[in-house]
Amino acid sequence: MSTIAASAPERRVLILGGTAEARALAALLADQPAIAVVSSLAGRVADPRLPVGEVRIGGFGGAAGLTRWLTEHHIDAVVDATHPYAARMRAAAVDAATTAGVAHLRLERPGWTAQPDDHWHRVPDVDAAVRMLPALGRRVLLTTGRQSLAAFLPLSGLWILARVVDAPAEPVPAHVQLLRSRGPYTLAGELELMRTHRIDVLVTKDSGGPLTEAKLAAARRLGLPVLMVDRPTPLASSTVVTTVEEAVRWLSGLPAQLG
Ligand code: NAP
Repeated sequence: MSTIAASAPERRVLILGGTAEARALAALLADQPAIAVVSSLAGRVADPRLPVGEVRIGGFGGAAGLTRWLTEHHIDAVVDATHPYAARMRAAAVDAATTAGVAHLRLERPGWTAQPDDHWHRVPDVDAAVRMLPALGRRVLLTTGRQSLAAFLPLSGLWILARVVDAPAEPVPAHVQLLRSRGPYTLAGELELMRTHRIDVLVTKDSGGPLTEAKLAAARRLGLPVLMVDRPTPLASSTVVTTVEEAVRWLSGLPAQLG
């Protein structure tokens, strides 16, 4: 529950988080007395990296629940800084902000760009990646996260090293090895991982940003194919910025509101 006072003469901002950008934005805004911030996390990760300042954890109950929350907490602006693949939250944030009459901004880091030596195969979604993967390799480094892991488990002809922050609730079959870890990663570390496990194909989302891009440089160095699951389709209705500094400028330009 937020402790922001309803009568405080501030802009009250909800940051939908779970990303490095959301944490960086909360840290920058912590120095601005005219802006009060609540950061929100989904609660997916057992031991999350917490932003500075006030934090709430857990779902809102869809767009309707978020609409109520925005109204009850007298929020003036929502900055949706969730991960590029958090498509449900992204859509709910637009709906709720519209219904509640609250300003809305999407903060989304750019995706990665292939270099001349890369061998990337872009697919629209996880199901397409599952279909294409057996044609690309036999020993897989799978980095698309715990939530998409189940889709790859039926590929019993492959050996899969699945890197996840938290282990899935269900045990995984013998052809899958879990590697619990959280970035950032280095080129040297990624090269060692891929060589040690004789990885011959990398599967990744197009998450973008510097913290997890070393795997792409390692795959390039080793000449490995990369199966890249594309981002969900952008929402036409969103105002989008790609950097934390742009988000701060957007917030500074909003009219101050009295709750
Ligand atoms: P999602 O599929 O878009 O969202 C599923 C549900 O989780 C939402 O409907 C919402 O529940 C709740 N939720 C998501 N983000 C939330 C937030 N910041 N605060 C409160 N509730 C939130 O999202 P997801 O892909 O599961 O991602 C969950 C979280 O992990 C996000 O914060 C995201 O930034 C972070 N993350 C995701 C990925 C990824 O690859 N998807 C990677 C790194 C970090 P209600 O409907 O009940 O409101």
